Amino acid sequence: MKKAVITGERRAEVVDVPEPQPIENWVVVKVHAAPMCAEYKQFVSGKPTDILGHEAAGEVVAVDRSNRLKVGDRVVAMPLYGCGECALCLSGDYIHCENNAHLTQFFQGGEGRATYAQYLLKQDWLLPKIPDDVSYEHASLACCGLGPSFGAMQTMGVDAFTTILITGAGPVGLGAVVNAQFRGARAIVVESIPYRVERAKQLGAAAVLDPRDEDIVEQIRALTGGRGVDAALDCSGNVQAERLCIDATRRKGKVSFIGECYNDLAIRISPDMIRKGLTLIGSWHYNLNDFPKIMQVIQRSSLLDLLISHVMPMRDIQEAFQCSSSHDSAKIILQPWA
Ligand SMILES: [Zn+2]
Ligand SMILES: [Zn+2]
Repeated sequence: MKKAVITGERRAEVVDVPEPQPIENWVVVKVHAAPMCAEYKQFVSGKPTDILGHEAAGEVVAVDRSNRLKVGDRVVAMPLYGCGECALCLSGDYIHCENNAHLTQFFQGGEGRATYAQYLLKQDWLLPKIPDDVSYEHASLACCGLGPSFGAMQTMGVDAFTTILITGAGPVGLGAVVNAQFRGARAIVVESIPYRVERAKQLGAAAVLDPRDEDIVEQIRALTGGRGVDAALDCSGNVQAERLCIDATRRKGKVSFIGECYNDLAIRISPDMIRKGLTLIGSWHYNLNDFPKIMQVIQRSSLLDLLISHVMPMRDIQEAFQCSSSHDSAKIILQPWA
C-alpha cells in the first residue's frame, strides 16, 4: 500500500509499504478520508517520521474476529488507542487510557498506525459506524475537526444562552465555531491570520478580534455588557491566549483548554480562581458515548463545507503540507486512493 512520510525539512513523499493484517478484534480499514492535523509542525521542523496522522474515515476491508464489524462497514477511526478494559476506557474516555503501551504488539509488521495511508489497523470498538447519508469527508470531522471543541462544550454546557470566546481559528478553532453555531451560542473569536479571520466570519462568528490589540479584554467586555464571556475555549496553545481566556471570562464562568501547549501559564489562585469562581477544564477529545451526538452535528450543520478548505489526493502530499503549514487553510482532507 501507499503511505505518506516526512523525509526532511519541508520534504514529504509517498512510499510503498506492506499492508497491515487483521488480528483478533483489530480490523483493517481502507482509508477514504484522512484529515490533516498538526503534522505540519514535523514537516516544518524536518523531523523524519513514517507514522503520520491520527484521523480517518473509511471502510472495513478485513476482519479476523469481531462481533461488532464486518467487511463493508463504513466507519470513523477514532484518534489513538485504549486498552478497552480500564475504567476510563469503559466510561468512554478511552483517550485518557494509561494502559495502552502493550498494544504495539498488534502492529506485527509495523504498519497500520498511520492514517496518511491507504489502510490502517484499529480495534473494532474504536470504529463507530457512519450513517448512510454522511460522506467520508464529513464523517472524518468527528475526529479533530469537531471533536475537541465538541467535548469541551459538552463539559461546559454551552447552549443558546452562552457567549463563548474562542481563541485561535485554525481547524480546531473553526470547528469550535461550527459547534457553537449548532448549539445556538454566540461566538467571539480571536485570530490574526486574515484567511482564518475571514473563515470565522463566514461561519457566523459574532465578532472576530485581533489578539495584537492591547485593549482586547476591554473589547470583549464591551461586547458582553461589561461582564465578560460565559465560557472560553483556547484552541491556540498560546500562553497569551490562554491568559486572555481567564481574564475575559466572567465571574463563575468556565474556561477550557484544548490547544496543545507545554509552556508555563501563570495562574493566581485568589484573583483568578477563588474570588472569580472560575472553573478551568482540560479537555482532549470527547466521550465515545457521545458519538451519536457529534454525528448529529455532522448531519444537520450547514457549515461543514466551510470548515473543509481543501480535499487533496495523498499523492500531492508535498503540496498539501505546504498548504497546511502556510495557515491559509481550514481543515485539509487527504484522499489516499485519489
Ligand atoms: Zn484503558
Ligand atoms: Zn487531530
